[in-house]
Amino acid sequence: MSTIKEFHRQSIDQPDVFWAEQAKLIDWETPYEKTLDFSRPPFAKWFVGGRTNLCFNAVDRHAAKRPDARALVYISTETNEEKSYSYAELKREVERTAAIMQSLGVGRGDRVLIYMPMIAEAAFAMLACARIGAIHSVVFGGFASGSLATRIDDATPKLIVSSDAGMRGGKAVPYKHLLDEAINLAGHKPAHVLMVDRGLDPAFNRVEGRDVDYATLRQQFLDAEVPVTWLESSEPSYILYTSGTTGKPKGVQRDTGGYCVALASTMKYIYCGGEGETMFSTSDIGWVVGHSYIIYAPLIAGMTTIMYEGTPLRPDAGIWWKIVEDYKVNVMFSAPTAARVLKKQDPAFMHKYDLSSLKHLFLAGEPLDQPTHEWIMGELNLPVIDNYWQTETGWPILAAMPGVEQTKIKYGTPSFPVYGYNLKIFREDGSECDANEKGIVGIVPPLPPGCLSTVWGDDDRFVSTYFSLFREPLVYSSFDWGIRDDEGYHFILGRTDDVINVAGHRLGTREIEEAVQGHSAIAEVAVVGVADPLKGQMPMAFAVVKDASRVATAEQRLALEKEVFKKVDESLGAIARPSRVHFVTVLPKTRSGKLLRRSIQALAEGRDPGDLTTIEDPAALEQLKQALGV
Ligand code: ATP
Ligand code: MG
Repeated sequence: MSTIKEFHRQSIDQPDVFWAEQAKLIDWETPYEKTLDFSRPPFAKWFVGGRTNLCFNAVDRHAAKRPDARALVYISTETNEEKSYSYAELKREVERTAAIMQSLGVGRGDRVLIYMPMIAEAAFAMLACARIGAIHSVVFGGFASGSLATRIDDATPKLIVSSDAGMRGGKAVPYKHLLDEAINLAGHKPAHVLMVDRGLDPAFNRVEGRDVDYATLRQQFLDAEVPVTWLESSEPSYILYTSGTTGKPKGVQRDTGGYCVALASTMKYIYCGGEGETMFSTSDIGWVVGHSYIIYAPLIAGMTTIMYEGTPLRPDAGIWWKIVEDYKVNVMFSAPTAARVLKKQDPAFMHKYDLSSLKHLFLAGEPLDQPTHEWIMGELNLPVIDNYWQTETGWPILAAMPGVEQTKIKYGTPSFPVYGYNLKIFREDGSECDANEKGIVGIVPPLPPGCLSTVWGDDDRFVSTYFSLFREPLVYSSFDWGIRDDEGYHFILGRTDDVINVAGHRLGTREIEEAVQGHSAIAEVAVVGVADPLKGQMPMAFAVVKDASRVATAEQRLALEKEVFKKVDESLGAIARPSRVHFVTVLPKTRSGKLLRRSIQALAEGRDPGDLTTIEDPAALEQLKQALGV
């Protein structure tokens, strides 16, 4: 075993040798001729000339060797269903769905938009697309018509796969009317809509000639055998739109061979999961974590993957840990927001179950604050690994890599640059930062295999968005601030556009948040910059207190606000002191746990908060409005 440093250095100095070794982790129909073609920077093509297929690697090769091994477990605490599929059964279901798609005219290179809840059929649909070389574009089943329409127009799908309804907190959330409205709004019209009818919304509208029923067609194709379509490594596998936290969503285009190799390598070096083991990612297929670590990577590694429909708190706060015990989960992947939700519950729920199968818990998607990291690691008594990445990269940029070397876990940091990423921290003039100097996290291209190959249909936007930070050198910008300490651990300090400019002083929202959170009464906080006629901008804080009785009266609120001011003054100086600290019980977040900063800021400035359909809890917005008096 080498050290992380050597491992990383080899991946950067000799990418050909390094990635050729990783490419052996997957099956190729035709071997590639060249590991990397970087003749047209920043566009990189990996494993040129090689032909492979994501579905073959995720399903067929395991179905051939271990047909009865468990591949997919679908658990819904919403409908109280639990169903397992072996690799052989998964292959049959995928072939049926693939045959349905082909019968509807879908073929290689065609787009299929998937707008579905977390049900097994959504996984079949994704894998069926991969099987026949169609490009899927999963849209989180929670987006409303407007957001969906934009994505329909951008991806121009021939087919949309959907369902009558999702379920949340025990209630049906109808999808179909949102979809119909989206298709009405969109300029592009799909030829067909394939409906998985869960019987949750019996009255849903059916459009004659366009809408077709999944169960009926599945019956017609029960015995279908659909051979895989071999794709050249760089052919697109899917499009996935970024969250849009900072602006108009970008259609991230993913390749096939590079993505497959990269995911396989992460299962070995980062997530440490293999054949016969079980992975439980609590994300949603609408997000990149869901694509990579609910569907593709665990299956490519021959694991059992768990697809969970439900919240972490129903029927009670022990549900995730019960799943860990029931299925002997070895690798778990969740988000910091979920950890913070669980932190507010009685830890007895966690200790009730046998968690001894669990090797690691991975958390990603947003900054993992130190107190939460420390808390959950203490409660679980196992390594909790923060990993930093983006929809664009498809797999971690920064992480600990226990499959390479056991390194000390430091709270509040996603550790080290992952192999393949020539990551550097840059000053705004393009020069490199020293240790302990804050700068912009950048990646010197070529981006490693599996990262976005371009923005769908818009090569110019790919270059102008991601590679135009400096004229020299050519660098992929993450739009995140970061810092590296003396030991090489990296910290993410928030997004570059989350900077607040107070009378010429540039302050990161994350730094102010950490300072506010330094007060022992505060559980969680969001800080945004609000336009100020005098100072340009002023930070404003919205804080959740651990014990609501501390802010029951106006006097108490004022007193605590003063204490928080003092805390900020002490750690950052009075310049960073928020104009106000508003106390709320819940913050507006997307269901993937990202703070809706743009919306908070817009409300605070009296502007339209924009698309709020993915909000986790609408009550959060009401509280905000009340606090602001708007
Ligand atoms: P858009 O790019 O459209 O604004 P988005 O950036 O929110 O949307 P994602 O790709 O889902 O969309 O999120 C990636 C971002 O999430 C990262 O750039 C970073 O800001 C944040 N992030 C993810 N993981 C971590 C982590 N472990 N620590 C800190 N921040 C993280
Ligand atoms: Mg982003």
